[in-house]
Amino acid sequence: MDRILRGIMKYRQTDRKKMVEQFEVVRNRPEPKAVFFTCMDSRMIPTRFTETNVGDMFVVRNAGNLIPHSQHFLDEATTNEPAALELGCIINDIRHIIVCGHSDCKAMNLLHSLQCQEFSSQKNRRISPLRAWLSAHAYSSLTKFQQLEVSGYHKPLIFQAETPMRKFVAYIDPEDKFSVTDKLSQVNCLQQLQNIASYGFLKRRLERHELHIHALWFDIYTGDIYYFSRQNKRFVDINEVTFNMLEKEVLKYYS
Ligand SMILES: [Zn+2]
Repeated sequence: MDRILRGIMKYRQTDRKKMVEQFEVVRNRPEPKAVFFTCMDSRMIPTRFTETNVGDMFVVRNAGNLIPHSQHFLDEATTNEPAALELGCIINDIRHIIVCGHSDCKAMNLLHSLQCQEFSSQKNRRISPLRAWLSAHAYSSLTKFQQLEVSGYHKPLIFQAETPMRKFVAYIDPEDKFSVTDKLSQVNCLQQLQNIASYGFLKRRLERHELHIHALWFDIYTGDIYYFSRQNKRFVDINEVTFNMLEKEVLKYYS
């Protein structure tokens, strides 16, 4: 806590004045560009690695960057994530949703261990909210990952995006650069696109191409960030060589 208090003191002397000025601009002219879902991991600082600022994004964070499927939204009982989707996409009319996973994700490592029946037993789920959260909301990612595992990580997977008709093909880590749990993390990231699209209150916007869903993946070890390119059917490193191609794809399909 001392570190935080000292940080606040430093902020008062450095960024505070500029931020308050920015708050006023945003209050008068709010134009947020994206709802950004990412993991709560302390290494993930999305506003820094996207160079975004006050007013640019609504950021939602949890263990494993999950968006529970709408089948869990029953009789008013909900989690934070769908409420955040409504606040962002309906009330604030944001047109892009981004799900950003990352390498060395502790939640994904734990999800991988949930394949062990003893580890994921009801007794253990009852004493571990994290295991319960992942069992309830990331099991579909694990099932998808198992399809990949069976094929020796070679065959592509098929995911659904904005509507049931808009399916896309994904080759996961075709160059075999990442660990098994990092591959799971990439699968999990793409699985969330389908979960987002399961909400009825987003349906019309998704069908009319007024709302788009994207996946990013952050490699903690190198600092590289990947965009899932549906054209290239894989996560593509965003860099000086690929930028023009990716920008073209984004402007063509999602503007
Ligand atoms: Zn994580």
